[in-house]
Amino acid sequence: MAEILAQDDALETACRLLAEGEPVALPTETVYGLAADATNGEAVARIFEAKGRPRFNPLIAHVADLAMAERIAIFSPLARRLAEAFWPGPLTLVLTHREGSGVHPLVTAGLATIALRCPRGFAGEVIKRFGRPLAAPSANVSGRITCTTAEAVNAALGDRIRLIVDGGPAPVGVESTIVKVAEDGLFLLRPGGLAAEEIEKVAGAPLKRGEKSVQAPGMLASHYAPRAKMRLNVTEVEPGEALLAFGSRRAKGAEKAARMLNLSPSGDLREAASNLFSYLSALDAAGGATIAAEPIPGEGLGEAINDRLARAAAPRDTDGRVT
Ligand code: AMP
Ligand code: MG
Repeated sequence: MAEILAQDDALETACRLLAEGEPVALPTETVYGLAADATNGEAVARIFEAKGRPRFNPLIAHVADLAMAERIAIFSPLARRLAEAFWPGPLTLVLTHREGSGVHPLVTAGLATIALRCPRGFAGEVIKRFGRPLAAPSANVSGRITCTTAEAVNAALGDRIRLIVDGGPAPVGVESTIVKVAEDGLFLLRPGGLAAEEIEKVAGAPLKRGEKSVQAPGMLASHYAPRAKMRLNVTEVEPGEALLAFGSRRAKGAEKAARMLNLSPSGDLREAASNLFSYLSALDAAGGATIAAEPIPGEGLGEAINDRLARAAAPRDTDGRVT
């Protein structure tokens, strides 16, 4: 069972567990978050595992301040104005991810953009002390109701994580407002704890709610499309294919693969999840026509891994749109 610590006593324990790669439930002003070191792929994989999330949708990376945020993403003057006006607070900005930021690709689900937020209160203090960004979706079982108290987090996840920090009821009580800052304007991706009107006042322009706002990133197969064709659950490799392997037993003909990367030679799904995005893009970059993927077991994190591979394999037209 998780230990529950009042926030006044929890700073050091929280930072120690985060440094060990453990997910920790933290109070933020919006809702309770399940936080892990955003630079550690296996720690991030543990978030998905604990929540039982069936797919790798991108997570919000939480930062201590604007300076940390600017090391991770590229801020336009407008993005900076919004951050200065509303951070710390319930506004998440989706921005272009800076290369070499150290944030693990499992956080962004391999996208070129990243969602950033600077939370108020205890979570902000932890990030400042920890010195690295924290990936944190809401602290609840996937598909179940969001938790706004430590007791609710304990009922939902108490047997799956080691520490819940109790900061009392979350003051805002709903998730952050998500705004994508794009070249062609500001897009409201998710309404939340900060009113759109407040954002529009500072931006001096209306928030767009068009096509981009209904896209649920991480759900669109085209976001995940490698250039190469994908073959899934292969038991026999065709000569010249790139091979995404898993476990200790190889598909027939594996020695004829142009290139092979093994998600986890020992068959550890957490390790596989943490390698998934970088290995897929490395195999894609190697330039072969087809990536063949060995079967991955469906239990635990395997469900999300298989979901991601199925999206990558979805048929699409030359613009990358799913057909
Ligand atoms: P949750 O994990 O419940 O806090 O939700 C995070 C939200 O942020 C989801 O709706 C994601 O789709 C969204 N999100 C995270 N990263 C991105 C991104 N790079 N682009 C657009 N939306 C994002
Ligand atoms: Mg949620």
